[in-house]
Amino acid sequence: MHLLSKSTYIRGRQCTKALWLYKHRRDLMAPVDAASQAIFDTGTAVGELAQQLFPGGVDCTPDTPYDFAPAIAATQAAIERGERVIYEAAFLHDGVLAALDILVRDGEGWRAYEVKSSGSAKEYQVHDAALQAHVIEGCGLRLLDVSIVHLDTSYVRRGALEVDKLFAITSVKGQVDREREAVPTRIAELKRIVQQAEVPDVDIGAYCSAPFECDFKHHCWAHVPAEGSVFELSRGMGREWELYRAGILLLKDVPTGTKLSAAQRHQVEAAQRGTRTIDRPALRGWLADLQYPLHHFDFETFMSAVPLFDGTRPYQQLPFQYSLHIQHGPGTAPEAHAFLGSGTGDPREALVAQLLADIGPVGDILVYNASFEVSRIKELACDLPHHSKALLALLTRVKDLHTPFKAGWYVVPAMRGRTSIKVVLPALVPHLRYDDLNVKEGSTASLLFAQLVSGTYTGDVGQLRADLLAYCGLDTLAMVEILHVLQREAVQD
Ligand code: SF4
Repeated sequence: MHLLSKSTYIRGRQCTKALWLYKHRRDLMAPVDAASQAIFDTGTAVGELAQQLFPGGVDCTPDTPYDFAPAIAATQAAIERGERVIYEAAFLHDGVLAALDILVRDGEGWRAYEVKSSGSAKEYQVHDAALQAHVIEGCGLRLLDVSIVHLDTSYVRRGALEVDKLFAITSVKGQVDREREAVPTRIAELKRIVQQAEVPDVDIGAYCSAPFECDFKHHCWAHVPAEGSVFELSRGMGREWELYRAGILLLKDVPTGTKLSAAQRHQVEAAQRGTRTIDRPALRGWLADLQYPLHHFDFETFMSAVPLFDGTRPYQQLPFQYSLHIQHGPGTAPEAHAFLGSGTGDPREALVAQLLADIGPVGDILVYNASFEVSRIKELACDLPHHSKALLALLTRVKDLHTPFKAGWYVVPAMRGRTSIKVVLPALVPHLRYDDLNVKEGSTASLLFAQLVSGTYTGDVGQLRADLLAYCGLDTLAMVEILHVLQREAVQD
């Protein structure tokens, strides 16, 4: 019935090969993971909430995403009946299907609203809107305006949700009108791609990850080695693509004389030598500056598109858990502390109260990637003013265990050019592994806790709490062990 839809047009605009594979070789597509499904579910929930901005509409959502014919007919009937507001209005023109979130009649014309769960209108959303405008006007309607309805991240919830303040409406009519000139040509080109027998000859590129992570990457990137490739170059800034286009796939093959940053040079040299690079004087200086008792500390946070609690904004990172291992001297056994929110309300007050009791008045607070923890402490100080003084006093004590790795003072080939704790830990302390845990990633912890808070978690809550405590606890135990390795290595000649 249609050759293209809004989603396949956007897919083809990103990469023609991705469009062809989607139409002909969907078996090669990666399955939808939990994080992607959560993003999809958020989009659906936000879309339904935004309908309250234009109440009393008729809903033309199809019963199944595979058969839009009834939705197109229902939309046409609603227009002919004189309905003022139509949700999920579906149109077919020029072999392209487009479903618009909200269509509102205004005199002889119409206003089109596309709802996005993002915090602002994005460029790719204008492409999306331009296609919809082309299809809708092709069906004979006159569009007076085209807008993106998105979340207003400055909205702070106070009591009941105020939908008119939660959302912002940004007109993109001007950009859409400019973009529309190219739409018919693009549609013709993409239809030709869909109908051709052979897969387009497209090499991998930066477009494999932008604006969306392509779900055929494991297929197209199969020739890129899983370890030691130029794509592991620290802060590549396009250098990795220059090397790839020059036929260089492995870090160890990067020619001498290639322009690289100091951290990248350390990486390449480590890959070429296959041995560690340790800047012992720099490491000793950093270690000597640590003040005991040393508090190895880590937050876990979650966020929600629609703010759940008073005083919070859309997509605000809310700490719900921490782990703390306190060492009273170099090499001493750490004392473990932890907090995990109940999952039944805003966890921040209880978290801060326990944190201030646990953390003690003196000694450094060692974190991994300090900007994240520092930002969260500042936000807590702002949102809980009665704890502000005590929280802000913690900031002067924060030191970053990421520093020796980010600065390239300690580089081993097994880190594969990366410096996140998930890579550094197995490289330096192979007996401690995230792989052995049920929750292996911060993003998973965040997602599961968000489900617990929203009441959508369907598993064993006791087991989930144990898994979250084990995950966050390993983050700070990992820091204890990594620091121990640095202290040991720094004194060797
Ligand atoms: S992985 Fe890259 S090259 Fe392959 S289909 Fe996706 S965007 Fe295109």
